[in-house]
Amino acid sequence: MRKSTFLKWKLRQAAFITRALASTNHVVLAHIIPMRRCNLACGYCNEYDQTSKPVSLEVMKKRLDKLAELGTSIVTISGGEPMMHPELDRIIRHIRSRGMIAGLISNGYYFTPDRIKRLNEAGLDSLQISIDNVAPDEVSRKSLRVLDKKLRYLAEHADFHININSVIGGGIKQPEDALTVAQRAVELGFSTTVGVIHDEDGTLKPLTEKEKEIFHAVKKLGNKDHARLNWFQDSIAEGKPYEWRCRSGSRYLYICEDGLVHWCSQQRGYPGIPLEDYSMEDFKREYKTEKWCAPTCTIQCVHQVGILDNWRDPQMTPVQIRREQKQKEKERVGEVLRAD
Ligand code: SF4
Ligand code: SF4
Repeated sequence: MRKSTFLKWKLRQAAFITRALASTNHVVLAHIIPMRRCNLACGYCNEYDQTSKPVSLEVMKKRLDKLAELGTSIVTISGGEPMMHPELDRIIRHIRSRGMIAGLISNGYYFTPDRIKRLNEAGLDSLQISIDNVAPDEVSRKSLRVLDKKLRYLAEHADFHININSVIGGGIKQPEDALTVAQRAVELGFSTTVGVIHDEDGTLKPLTEKEKEIFHAVKKLGNKDHARLNWFQDSIAEGKPYEWRCRSGSRYLYICEDGLVHWCSQQRGYPGIPLEDYSMEDFKREYKTEKWCAPTCTIQCVHQVGILDNWRDPQMTPVQIRREQKQKEKERVGEVLRAD
């Protein structure tokens, strides 16, 4: 990444954070899925299929226009594997043309020098690749050995910010792989983060002593901004729940390939409203709705968005919100009757 581009990236980050702190009335980050299909089949993943078609460019543009209307600062394209979408560059261009920051999450398999240059030209701002292990195994082929050549291409040609995420916990066989991945990322000039994952049965268990040691070593190597924002991970690493306010459905949106708004990739179905119909009323309701799954949540990006508002606007359970709505309705009816 050129120094001038890096400075521009930092300035744009500072601008969206300032804007998010100044007002709670817009979306900070939206994940959008242009394609559910993936070329891999990771054993732990529930976010892909092997048959679906890409969402058309025309439909994607309409969804992006609606996100722009909701004041969205950052749109991150995710999947499946979004690099398989034939119109990815034009989707990125559209995000940029609407004044939003364009991010991409990919498994890294499709990067060639030519493809990277086209992403530069389209205006991609940032890329994240998750690498699960050093050598491929039966669970994951997102492996350093397979991807190292692609990382070297990126180091040489990419003019966008690159973060490499490694993972620890959840019974991953070789926890030391996370450190090898992070060291290679730093060597190539990328930022690096580490994700703590749940055990296979979804329960929150503390990391083993060895895993904790590696987790702290990787964090030290990593992106200082992310480390400062990801203090929830220290609780998760200890197997303890973490109290915070998840603002999904408002400050964070997850838009699936069918164009429905969900809380996040792991809570699909709620609220399940088409993006085109999503109103500020929905936004406000979800902003103040306490999420039952928050204490054990490990989704880094939603935690980071949550930090912007954690200090303000306490949340309520759905039952309390319904009660409050009924009370308001009663008061409105009372006012009308009194006026009559
Ligand atoms: S590469 Fe990503 S989307 Fe594809 S199967 Fe693996 S985790 Fe899921
Ligand atoms: S708390 Fe986590 S799992 Fe629950 S809705 Fe928010 S982001 Fe999703």
